[in-house]
Amino acid sequence: MSPLLQKNKFPLTWVEVDLNILKKNLRAVRSVVRESSAGILAVVKADAYGHGMLRVSAALWEEGVRFFGVATIDEALVLRKSLPKAAILVLGCFHPTQLKDYISKKITPTISGMEDAMLLSRALKSIRKFPVHVKIDTGMGRLGLPYQQAGDFFKKIQSLPGITIEGVYTHFSSADDESVTPTHTQLKIFEDCLKKIRALGVKPKYIHAANSMGVLRFKEAHFNLVRPGLVLYGLKSSPRAKLPNGIRPILSWRARISFLKKFTCGQTVSYGRTHKILKNTLIATLPVGYSHGYRVAFSNRASVIVRKKRCPVVGRVTMDQILVDVGRISGVKRWEGVALIGGRGAQAITAQDLAGLAGTIPYEIVCGIHSRVPRIYKK
Ligand SMILES: *Cc1c(COP(=O)(O)O)cnc(C)c1O
Repeated sequence: MSPLLQKNKFPLTWVEVDLNILKKNLRAVRSVVRESSAGILAVVKADAYGHGMLRVSAALWEEGVRFFGVATIDEALVLRKSLPKAAILVLGCFHPTQLKDYISKKITPTISGMEDAMLLSRALKSIRKFPVHVKIDTGMGRLGLPYQQAGDFFKKIQSLPGITIEGVYTHFSSADDESVTPTHTQLKIFEDCLKKIRALGVKPKYIHAANSMGVLRFKEAHFNLVRPGLVLYGLKSSPRAKLPNGIRPILSWRARISFLKKFTCGQTVSYGRTHKILKNTLIATLPVGYSHGYRVAFSNRASVIVRKKRCPVVGRVTMDQILVDVGRISGVKRWEGVALIGGRGAQAITAQDLAGLAGTIPYEIVCGIHSRVPRIYKK
């Protein structure tokens, strides 16, 4: 938690995370994987995409999730303290100096090649059977062993003491793409690798490939473990993507009106005077700005929900404050709460909507809500 967070004070902006909806989303994902009876590895990297790793993973643990994915050893160590019995896979790479933490805290590393495997084997000393997951690059072009080397690699790794291949996985570059071809191509390559691996007598306990959109769109990619992140948070990766019924965002972002002022025709608002008042109105100040993750790109484009109605953000977003024209709402009061992300039905503002305004993806919007915005949990 950010040291800037002053607990027990009345927050003027906060994020509300609904753990009940999270659990419903998990159930919806489970019903998608029912046929394949794949297990779930919940991806909670980047502080659970800004939602708060510890509370999110504790809620998922209560629902029977036993496997979690994080990006770094630091995240893994924090999670280990709160869930001593969970399986934790670090999806990112490790530095040799981190191996002692992996080993002593039973954190599962991702192995992307012989160099990784040898470093780990050496660090294991007399330890036998330390589980690892090997990642194969089948077209994502990021971490992972080039698939062409899979045969050789699995031959060699078997003679390395200490290492047990518990999992083999890959990652899709285009699971949310309109075209299914890139994913089918990756799946074919992955299946070929699995054949080679099995022929060598390696029988990993877990085979996995699917991120959220992979889970929802490609049943043949479920294998026996899936790695959803985004969909658990009730978000979709693009406007075109479809979510199963019952999956809803779990995060809303709120703020209180910190100041109200009447503006008259001809006055201007904020840096650069990019917004000019054309009709007498009432402008609210909200104590949220780009330093909290409410981006400059939202200037004169986004809206916020005041008393269930959308009101436009006017003028440029500043470091710690934005301005909202609340002229259409009668009786607005200072300190009342509004929603920057949230609401239901036609008036709802989603992370996807904001991502569209900024030319980015919803992941970046929720991950970008600064840690000094307190997270409040609803159960
Ligand atoms: C982030 C990540 C996921 C989860 O992706 P979503 O699109 O959020 O479901 C799965 N696997 C890997 C390797 C990842 O890095």
